[in-house]
Amino acid sequence: MIVPSSCLLCDRANESRSHLFFDCLVYAEVWTSFFTHPTLHPPHSFDGILTWVLTASPHPKVKFICKLLLQAVCYVLWRERNLRLHNSTSRSAHLLIKEIQVIMKAKLIGMDRIPVQPTQRSQSFQESHLVTWFTYFQP
Ligand SMILES: [Zn+2]
Repeated sequence: MIVPSSCLLCDRANESRSHLFFDCLVYAEVWTSFFTHPTLHPPHSFDGILTWVLTASPHPKVKFICKLLLQAVCYVLWRERNLRLHNSTSRSAHLLIKEIQVIMKAKLIGMDRIPVQPTQRSQSFQESHLVTWFTYFQP
């Protein structure tokens, strides 16, 4: 199978792990669109982001959502890259962002349906995952 060496998302650099995930212009547009809240400042490198998501926020649900969001962004961008390779179709960053929003909201609604343990009834656990999402990531 012949795979082009240049990035299938932006066509501005050779494709590599660090380019696709965190250096690519399409990745950057998608990823940074979720980080407009003044308390969230993810770094711009592969290793930096992997470390950052572990301590992204003192708020447990924000930290959880950051981890989930990283997975959703990587999944959607990798799938988009493969669709461009195999099907010659392409979607805009705007559509990729919309898809990630749908994925995240569906997952967070499911998380909010899980009964809360008595030990988790502190203030930081009372706000739903979905409210946290709309407060921090999709205002
Ligand atoms: Zn690229």
